[in-house]
Amino acid sequence: MNVVLGAGLSGLSAAAWLTRAGKPVAVIEKNRHVGGLARTITHGDFHFDLGGHRFLTENQQVQSFVEELLGNALLKVPRKSRIYINGRHIDYPLSPANAVFGMGLAATGAILLDYGKEKWRNIIRPRQLHSLEDWVVSQFGRTIFNLYFKNYSEKVWGIDCRHISKDWVAKRIDGLSLRQFIQHSLKFHTQKNKTLTDTFFYPRKGIGQLSDRMSDLVKSRNPVTTGAGVERIFHAHGSITGIQFSDGGKTHSMQGSTYISSIPVTRLLEKIIPSPPGPVRRAAARIRFRSLVIVALFLNKQSMTDLTWMYFPGKEIPFGRIHEPKNWSSDLAPAGKSHIIAEYFCNRDDRTWQSADDALAGSTAHHLQKLGFFDQKDILDSCVLRIPYAYPVFDLHYRKHLKIITDFLDGFANLHLVGRSGMFSYLNMDQAMESGIVAAQQIIQDCRKKDPVPATSDNIFIPGHLLQPDYS
Ligand SMILES: Cc1cc2nc3c(=O)[nH]c(=O)nc-3n(C[C@H](O)[C@H](O)[C@H](O)COP(=O)(O)OP(=O)(O)OC[C@H]3O[C@@H](n4cnc5c(N)ncnc54)[C@H](O)[C@@H]3O)c2cc1C
Repeated sequence: MNVVLGAGLSGLSAAAWLTRAGKPVAVIEKNRHVGGLARTITHGDFHFDLGGHRFLTENQQVQSFVEELLGNALLKVPRKSRIYINGRHIDYPLSPANAVFGMGLAATGAILLDYGKEKWRNIIRPRQLHSLEDWVVSQFGRTIFNLYFKNYSEKVWGIDCRHISKDWVAKRIDGLSLRQFIQHSLKFHTQKNKTLTDTFFYPRKGIGQLSDRMSDLVKSRNPVTTGAGVERIFHAHGSITGIQFSDGGKTHSMQGSTYISSIPVTRLLEKIIPSPPGPVRRAAARIRFRSLVIVALFLNKQSMTDLTWMYFPGKEIPFGRIHEPKNWSSDLAPAGKSHIIAEYFCNRDDRTWQSADDALAGSTAHHLQKLGFFDQKDILDSCVLRIPYAYPVFDLHYRKHLKIITDFLDGFANLHLVGRSGMFSYLNMDQAMESGIVAAQQIIQDCRKKDPVPATSDNIFIPGHLLQPDYS
């Protein structure tokens, strides 16, 4: 039996792959619903993600898997986003008119001058790059850093850009140069960069439809138990020997041959019995996750924007980003109505997290009304959700601590870490799925070595034969 801890996209991908290969697998999920961060919440006739989740991948295997799962429920959606800076709405990616009128001629000139300066500096006297600030300034120049990156990054992480590791931004906008950025802005780009892409994929019923279909695939042969939090993980002689989980007050035990964990790595370490050694526990105490508060406002209004996302880097607005779900799929709001979802980046011990729901909804409504999105009379209802493990925080020291942790966990031959908080890695959905698939493939390969069986359509992945969807 293969045991999967957590039914987010990474855990479900692993379980789906093992199921397809005819391997026994049991998925244990703490929440009542599958999907983890990539789930879709239903509130009356409205549906929304925990912050809009666009799907994009360069991995053809993952793309085929998603197309196979969703069939004609997978929409191709145009992307149009804006950044609200100093009272101006600036298109992102920049349009030619915005490049000049949005930022102004002086700022455009300063961007080009700074960029040239940095390129020379990189040739003449290259510097060691440690922080997000070092990296962005060296790639794009200081004016772009101050305009676009500084405030937003500090809002996301809650720490100064000099203390954020370059790993985060380097990963997010990997391979993007100012030349590509400007070419794209002026619409004469030839090469696509994932960061600047004009369209993305999205399931008709919200991102949760993807995990629901994976869960259905697993459940066709194997159990997916929800509302069941893993509480203890036992080990002996370099192997995980069993887990204990509880659902509704009852405690259950389970033994498996392999374990795939997508639960936050710090939580995993707390649950391991016997406890990890002191240095590992201390390292775990030094890495942390940023949390997220989602405020949804439901409105008696046909439409408020034509945007995918709108970013708010400024300190005068407490949330960092909003989206209007019906711009992603018209199925997400009832006819004649719409909703706006605001994302607040925060820590669990801060004021935002601890604020009352009414206060958060009131503050969100106040700021959005001031910006002219809707009037007080349009508000039908609101809802607030708190998500504790949203972002692994890449400060300047996280690598050192993470190494101590992974060295310890690597000592368990039958434990595979997958996913965003399971691996403490800033993974997007496609990469989270890929991490699960890679773990499953490894397990399948190990089984073949031990007990060779001929490959059949049941134990290898054949694109196009993954499952026969009959969903509408
Ligand atoms: C606001 C926001 C917007 C995003 N937008 C995008 C986007 O546009 N595009 C994109 O590609 N990616 C996006 N992402 C990233 C994406 O959400 C993640 O990459 C992906 O969902 C991670 O899946 P996962 O399985 O690794 O982790 P998770 O989704 O965190 O899954 C882990 C699961 O483990 C469960 N669990 C935890 N503890 C226990 C326990 N003790 N016992 C049992 N189960 C447990 C959790 O409940 C959860 O279901 C976004 C993320 C956020 C926060």
